[in-house]
Amino acid sequence: LICGLARHEWQLNNEQVTLNKKLGEGQFGEVHKGKLKTSVFTPPVIVAVKTLHQNHLSANEKILFLKEANVMLTLAHPNVIKFYGVCTMKEPIMIVMEFCDGSSLEDVLLSKESKVSSEDKILYLFHAACGIDYLHRKHVIHRDIAARNCLLNSKKVLKISDFGLSVKGVAIKERKGGCLPVKYMAPETLKKGFYSTASDIYSYGALVYEVYTDGKTPFESCGLRGNELRKAIIGKSVILTIDVECPEFVKAIFEQSRLYDTEQRISSKRIIEIFKEEAGMHELD
Ligand code: ADP
Repeated sequence: LICGLARHEWQLNNEQVTLNKKLGEGQFGEVHKGKLKTSVFTPPVIVAVKTLHQNHLSANEKILFLKEANVMLTLAHPNVIKFYGVCTMKEPIMIVMEFCDGSSLEDVLLSKESKVSSEDKILYLFHAACGIDYLHRKHVIHRDIAARNCLLNSKKVLKISDFGLSVKGVAIKERKGGCLPVKYMAPETLKKGFYSTASDIYSYGALVYEVYTDGKTPFESCGLRGNELRKAIIGKSVILTIDVECPEFVKAIFEQSRLYDTEQRISSKRIIEIFKEEAGMHELD
């Protein structure tokens, strides 16, 4: 499996990883809470372990994924889930990452028990922009920005997860039922399969929409799905609007992130500046 690739720091031994409670079902396999032993001198680290079902990726795609792992290991930012490494010795492949002791932003938005406050909405969107900006500075395009891929910890820190898994769009095509996340995708991606930092920003706009509509899925009420929706987005016959109470500056960010022309679309850098200017936000160390 790993022929042609030298052994890297991110290649962990199965003996280093212990699987505990199942946390959820992922697109490629299961997610467990677990422990990672890094040295005999230090206590094990609590981690989240994602298993990758072998039949989901071809041998070539696995090599691509492992190469991508090299990039992921160099990433370190408070708003991005830390990647520790992969176990490739036995099937299924296991991806070992930072454990987040909270729920996904989607679950929090959809929760019937408590509403997300206006302050927290701004905080989460600011954190998401900081995480995306960091990834973009590292030349990583996420390709699947959505509330379900943002995790929150108990200290209200949002962390972007699932980055780098969608190697050249391969993983996205492998979704359950073979359907693409059309509702979140930029017109240029729907049209020609182009992914860029700008297409991530377009999806960030969908995230803003989710946050202000208590977790509504974009285009849910337009009655179109799949290929019909794809055509409607490309042909501009449907557009996403926020018709609920939302600060003006957030609405402006939303509108500028949803522009059809990628050149005109707002950057993550500018989004961060606006949050700092308008809401006095500070980046985490
Ligand atoms: P996929 O995007 O492949 O469908 P997810 O990344 O959403 O899979 O994982 C499924 C579930 O596992 C999530 O909803 C979340 O509850 C849990 N999970 C995933 N990653 C972590 C993590 N790093 N820390 C804690 N829980 C996690």
